[in-house]
Amino acid sequence: MRDYYDILEVSKDAGQDEIKKAYRRLAKKYHPDLNPNDPEAEQKFKEVNSAYEILSDEEKRSRYDRFGHAGVDPQASGGAGFGGFGDIFDDIFDIFGGGFSRGSASRRSGPVRGGDVKQSIVIEFKEAVFGVEKEIQTRRFETCSTCEGSGAKPGTEKKTCSKCHGSGEVRYAQRTPFGQFMQVGTCDQCGGSGHVIDEPCETCKGSGKEIKTRKINVKIPAGVDSDSIISVRGEGHHGEKGGPPGDLHIYVTVKEDPVFKREGNDVFVTIPISYTQAVLGTEIKVPILDGYQDYTIPEGTQPGTIFRLKNQGVPNVRGLGRGDLFLTVDVTIPKDLNDKQRELLIQFSKEMGEQYSSPPKKKFFDKVKDVLK
Ligand SMILES: [Zn+2]
Ligand SMILES: [Zn+2]
Repeated sequence: MRDYYDILEVSKDAGQDEIKKAYRRLAKKYHPDLNPNDPEAEQKFKEVNSAYEILSDEEKRSRYDRFGHAGVDPQASGGAGFGGFGDIFDDIFDIFGGGFSRGSASRRSGPVRGGDVKQSIVIEFKEAVFGVEKEIQTRRFETCSTCEGSGAKPGTEKKTCSKCHGSGEVRYAQRTPFGQFMQVGTCDQCGGSGHVIDEPCETCKGSGKEIKTRKINVKIPAGVDSDSIISVRGEGHHGEKGGPPGDLHIYVTVKEDPVFKREGNDVFVTIPISYTQAVLGTEIKVPILDGYQDYTIPEGTQPGTIFRLKNQGVPNVRGLGRGDLFLTVDVTIPKDLNDKQRELLIQFSKEMGEQYSSPPKKKFFDKVKDVLK
């Protein structure tokens, strides 16, 4: 077997760039499409590929440098011929500037899974907290029920394409700076399907698919939040050639609540209490996610005090407990007191030992306003 470095016409200390350049040059030179019916060129082409596969892989290359051909398994290296050819094959056509479509051929060959369907849904705050079952309307491609996906009118048959004989591919000559060679492309007569339909199915116009609008019930689990995605298996587009259907992905948006603010699984509520309730303490009903609960505000509660109700938050969406509920106390200062209320508070103020002086008369404020104008 010839030395790989000799085959690629590079020195033993050649860098990867150099090896790649040499490979591209020689692969072009010996490419079978450019050398039809030339067994010698074909042999050289195989050698070049084998050499490149080893020398372009640093691990294989170092084994080859130490042990020669014995260090690299010829079976695994693809040296036997066109086995393990995929990457290099793509590379070759990269050299020729692309335009080579293998996609249609590989796509045609086996079952294809259906695409996923995306859908959005808006739910109420409490629905997200406790979970809900929603009926949603979705649209997807299904296999045509009239022709069962064949695209041919019932009673007729689709025929093998006469141009590509069912392969879906045609070869054609193309001129390039490297000369004329054969290019492979999608068959234009059948669009790559390999079949032609004389009388298309009237339901699907020959596509084999129809759009179906359906209503399905979806369980929204307790604890979902905005930007959650709920996936329902098998509710996406139908597959092709016996492939499984895709999935339905539901993008959830949760409406804001006027009372509860959510952060993760914790919930925050602001509780307005009066000045005297804060001072004297009180028992009040506070809103919680499940309804209302009696709660004791202790004597002397300061504005902004936060009380924590453990495990009264939003359930974890995976069923692992609940978050907490936080009550933030907002003390409202009484306004527009009547004379009696004012008198009582003045007495209270004096009792607290505060210096009380009556506020300036309204006229004074008006004067200040005038100055500021
Ligand atoms: Zn049909
Ligand atoms: Zn065809």
